Amino acid sequence: MFALPRRWLSLAVVAVGGCSSLAPSEPDLPVGAIRLEAGAEYRAWFSRTQACSGLVGQYDEIQWFVVPNVETFATAAGPKVGMWEKSGRVARIILAGRYTGHEMVVRHEMLHHLLDREGHPSQYFVDRCQLTWETWQSAAADH
Ligand SMILES: [Zn+2]
Repeated sequence: MFALPRRWLSLAVVAVGGCSSLAPSEPDLPVGAIRLEAGAEYRAWFSRTQACSGLVGQYDEIQWFVVPNVETFATAAGPKVGMWEKSGRVARIILAGRYTGHEMVVRHEMLHHLLDREGHPSQYFVDRCQLTWETWQSAAADH
């Protein structure tokens, strides 16, 4: 009966060690996220997203991160290709590496920033800007 607690102890040590080694340098970032240097294309996409939404925001408030070489990354709400979050004045957009060049995915997160909220009000994400998977495909098919 004393063998069991000893085994649990070693498991606990492994779990704690795993957590600390996986801890991101900044809190709440997905595992493996690193800073992304956003290029001029992102500025152009931001302008386009302001234009379709009729909203104005501060591009320079956004800190960009990427989880390199992944299709999705894990979040509390399940796997994601992109995520926007804000704490205080700092807004972060985290992208899966495979989607850093995907206009819809990047601009979708920009629209969250312009709206300053999570959730997807359809008048913006669907009607004005077509920044969902379904509407983006149908908008692209129109051209
Ligand atoms: Zn979203």
